[in-house]
Amino acid sequence: IIPIILHFIFSATTPYTTLPSVLLLGPSGAGKTALLTLFERGPLSQQDQSTAAVAQTHTSQVPSTVELAVSTDTPSSSNNNNSYRTDLDATGATAKKFLLIDTPGHPKLRGHALSHLASSTITPSSVASASPSAETHKSKLKALIFTVDAASLAADDDNSSSTLSTTAEYLYDVLITLQKRFHKRSGSRAPASVPVLVAANKLDLFTALPAALVKSRLEAELGRIRQTRSKGLLDSGVGVDVGAGGAGEEEGEGWLGGYGNDKFSFKEMMEFDIEVEVLGGNVIGEGPGADRWWKWIGERV
Ligand code: GDP
Repeated sequence: IIPIILHFIFSATTPYTTLPSVLLLGPSGAGKTALLTLFERGPLSQQDQSTAAVAQTHTSQVPSTVELAVSTDTPSSSNNNNSYRTDLDATGATAKKFLLIDTPGHPKLRGHALSHLASSTITPSSVASASPSAETHKSKLKALIFTVDAASLAADDDNSSSTLSTTAEYLYDVLITLQKRFHKRSGSRAPASVPVLVAANKLDLFTALPAALVKSRLEAELGRIRQTRSKGLLDSGVGVDVGAGGAGEEEGEGWLGGYGNDKFSFKEMMEFDIEVEVLGGNVIGEGPGADRWWKWIGERV
């Protein structure tokens, strides 16, 4: 009877707020809220796809958090088990639970999301309204999903070039924050590395750029921003403060990726143990869907 009681105590007292978390970032309108809703509710029916049913973009500072579970069964045992559509309870699959935390994409509210990347744990309640009791619990940050609107990067007009630059600016800030986090690691309490998925969304739209092009455009733009910022850094003679870090940096620390490289590529981030992968998909409409993103998450939580 004692093991049974112990089992009950442990299962009853394991607070779900200690679950690992995955943070959803990206500019407004990229589809963060739609993706969170999709994963939470399963596939959206045709009817759900009307704008009314898809969760509306929140303009408040309080992002939303959902608790999700991915199957830990190997993908080969059943392909279906690795879909967000699968009812894991019904299939009896073993599952890993995690929190998916949405953050506001508005430029004025991004600093808050970025500040959470600086440490290895985040308190979901401080970024989201998970539960009032979440206050004291820290969640381990396992992965980042940076959502990009692949359709708005495509059109060859002024509007799209500004979407590309604002999207890349935000991604730059995310990556440099992670890079600074890497520099801060010391000894045994090193923060674990956090992989980044760039989710090239809205591939259902025929105007959307394929993932490979989203990747190369972002890399080119990140390279440009890097040049501009390092020039600003040299001109002013002080470190660029992007939320974390700040003054007292060593040479090259304010520089994103491999120091001195001319062109930027996501691969450079591996120097800092930061894996960046660009995968295409869509939340709404006909297309590759969101399964690849789900699989990516499952392999990292
Ligand atoms: P957020 O600001 O990043 O949270 O973006 P939302 O989730 O509010 O989405 C912005 C708009 O894009 C909404 O009108 C969504 O319906 C739409 N949207 C999101 N994902 C897709 C997609 O995969 N394809 C298409 N066509 N529209 C999408």
